[in-house]
Amino acid sequence: MRRLTAPYAHELKEACARVIDSGRYLHGPETHAFEAELCAQCGTPHAVAVSNGLDALRLMLRASMLCGYLNKCDEILVAANTYIATIMAIEDAGLVPVLVEPDPVGMNIDPIAAERAITPRTRAIMEVHLYGAPCRHAELAEVARRHGLLIFEDNAQAIGAETDGRKTGSLGLAAAFSFYPTKNVGALGDAGAVTTSDTRLANAVCALANYGSDTRYHNIYSGYNCRMDEMQAAMLRIKLAHLADETRRRRLIARIYIDNIHHPDVRLPQWEEGDVWHQFVVRTPRRDALRNHLAQNGVKTDIHYPVPPHRQPCYNDTPMSRLSLPVTEKMAGEVLSLPIATVSPDEARKVAELINKFYR
Ligand SMILES: *Cc1c(COP(=O)(O)O)cnc(C)c1O
Repeated sequence: MRRLTAPYAHELKEACARVIDSGRYLHGPETHAFEAELCAQCGTPHAVAVSNGLDALRLMLRASMLCGYLNKCDEILVAANTYIATIMAIEDAGLVPVLVEPDPVGMNIDPIAAERAITPRTRAIMEVHLYGAPCRHAELAEVARRHGLLIFEDNAQAIGAETDGRKTGSLGLAAAFSFYPTKNVGALGDAGAVTTSDTRLANAVCALANYGSDTRYHNIYSGYNCRMDEMQAAMLRIKLAHLADETRRRRLIARIYIDNIHHPDVRLPQWEEGDVWHQFVVRTPRRDALRNHLAQNGVKTDIHYPVPPHRQPCYNDTPMSRLSLPVTEKMAGEVLSLPIATVSPDEARKVAELINKFYR
């Protein structure tokens, strides 16, 4: 994390001082400027800065219910290999997550499997652009159109990504963002946002995040306190301004891995123009051995994610726990995230060499 923050340290400290001296710590000029800058980045007319990514998802869904887009117990199609926060937010809003297998190539929700999972209660598709790779949106939008479904996005991992010339975060009714420190745009703490082109929905998210209040001491909903603070907004304005450079750097590293890793047992992700490479995820049946081999050579890796949501103990007594999702389960046993956030091109070449020398 220190290596990730270091290039921006000077700018970040100046911004901290500016906020301290301003006397405005919530709902002030930094937050409003950040919201406007996020709108420009995503090409959406509205952005609401909130407390974190999970809250962004919960607020987006609850506000959609208040606006009449969703009703209690509606089914939402979502990739079974997502980070558990997506599932928790759907459940928390009183909606029903319907877990759909990912496409084994792109590792995002499989549009064909999604269409097969539709029932009379299905109301929406949640596009989770996992690892920074956009979902197959054109096909999903076609499924949604045929069946009258809404599209939501969990864009926590894919800020800046594009598909068919459009930015993720602007593809559906609304999108949730996380600015958790390790995300491509990371706060120095927790932060999140919701983007939408729907004015009524934006107002509902904004009110819900502030005790359900539309004007001071006037509460139209029973809401939450999910505000972003001025300090994080000031940090995020700096990180957002550097996003294009950050994405270029990540793409360069991904290209080096793809061009230099050659091992019969290691499957590489596909190169996609619009991918922002939040993670660089390889797959191998000998994942744990490869991970040890890299660790012994001083290369830290991670697993996103070792246990899929439907196998987590919190869902033990729910119908989710009885699902059989072979693609998702196999993936969880094989995925390995190589370092991408802070490695130099030379280091990436060394990691590739180490993988190529991994016992065959
Ligand atoms: C990080 C993440 C979240 C949750 O964000 P927080 O800010 O940590 O609450 C949700 N969904 C996905 C896909 C994520 O990667």
